Amino acid sequence: MGEGASPTAAMEEVRVFPLSCVVQNYAWGKVGLESEVAKLLVSGHPSTVIEEEKPYAELWMGAHPKGDALIKDNRISQKSLGQWIADHPSQLGVKVKDTFRGQLPFLFKVLSVKIALSIQAHPDKELAGKLHSRYPEHYPDGNHKPEMAIALTPFDGLCGFRPVNEIIGFLKSVPEFRAVVGNEATDELQSCATDSARVPQVLKKCFTSMMNCEKKVFVEQLNILVKRVSEEAAAGRDTSGSNGDLLLQLHSQFPGDIGCFSIYFLNFVHLEPGEAMFLGANEPHAYLYGDCIECMACSDNTVRAGLTPKYIDVNTLCEMLIYSPSPAQSKIFPAVQDPADACVFIYDPPVPDFTIMRIQVPASMKKYNVSQIDSASILLVVQGEAMVVSSPNMELVIKRGSVLFISANEQLSLHITSDKNLLLFRACCIL
Ligand SMILES: [Zn+2]
Repeated sequence: MGEGASPTAAMEEVRVFPLSCVVQNYAWGKVGLESEVAKLLVSGHPSTVIEEEKPYAELWMGAHPKGDALIKDNRISQKSLGQWIADHPSQLGVKVKDTFRGQLPFLFKVLSVKIALSIQAHPDKELAGKLHSRYPEHYPDGNHKPEMAIALTPFDGLCGFRPVNEIIGFLKSVPEFRAVVGNEATDELQSCATDSARVPQVLKKCFTSMMNCEKKVFVEQLNILVKRVSEEAAAGRDTSGSNGDLLLQLHSQFPGDIGCFSIYFLNFVHLEPGEAMFLGANEPHAYLYGDCIECMACSDNTVRAGLTPKYIDVNTLCEMLIYSPSPAQSKIFPAVQDPADACVFIYDPPVPDFTIMRIQVPASMKKYNVSQIDSASILLVVQGEAMVVSSPNMELVIKRGSVLFISANEQLSLHITSDKNLLLFRACCIL
């Protein structure tokens, strides 16, 4: 691509170019062409061979050293986006370049989840700094890792603590759950249900008590619970009082894991396509199933709480979490329609590192301008086809699966070339 450039183009700096992004074949990913990651890959790069049995978990659209995107433009000698940005930091935009010391501050991804990811939380910057200096083997950097997930297909996750009355309901109807939390903590939660000022502290006590439950005890209780719920389900009885479907789903993936009990503490959140969750610092969460767009600050700091064979740092986890109960519905993060452009819906989380735009252009519009912003951005085409015109004299075709890097303050004109509406996601950093 980029072959349409005129001979004089080499004189001018290239400001928009296509990327070939890195796939991560983690074991939890959807397999073969079930995976949205694989589908986007094949559509964007038709020569890609998708293996039927292989998981296609993540597509990384960014300059992270563990998955730096390759540049597909014969006007450019740099091989990867990371190299390009190192050589052209001004393309980040002045504020982004200065604030994030010449680095692209976010990593943009597509995820296709078949098996639940571990229940986890990410530290804020202060805690990340402390953890990294004390335990660099578990906490590889000093940065925070806020994340946002936007559903591409119906998407399930766990997020934040449930309202206290729901947790108390499970403590009553699921005796095995009560057994791992313990009677003392349970009684205390019941007695403070109406005293909202005391709730966070008592909820912390309950959760900490469960996380510290002796392995022999919780494995035994989990086996009793799974046996009971399986028998009830087989007899055609309603198991919703024990959150039965989710329990059996997670137990089949992670038998004997303490994380199976956390479904009684944490909200089950279902997102329809276009709906989002924002996972700020210290918010417990897990992705369970589905395909999503994800954006995060560049960091690998994760503290795990179960549904994982990896290291669990129980003390750090129980200390850091936000114990503020709220309903599942409140965990859905609203997108705001751009007052200046009815095609754009903005997801702007309360962190500086990234903002995501969902751009929906009806095919009937024929022409559309992707707005100029004072930040480098990465654009993914999820649906539709268009011809992109940008300086210097560049024309290229984008379609489902195409990914573009767009320099700060660059405007693109799109000429829509198919009868499908365009659906684009754009990650940037608005300071
Ligand atoms: Zn996370």
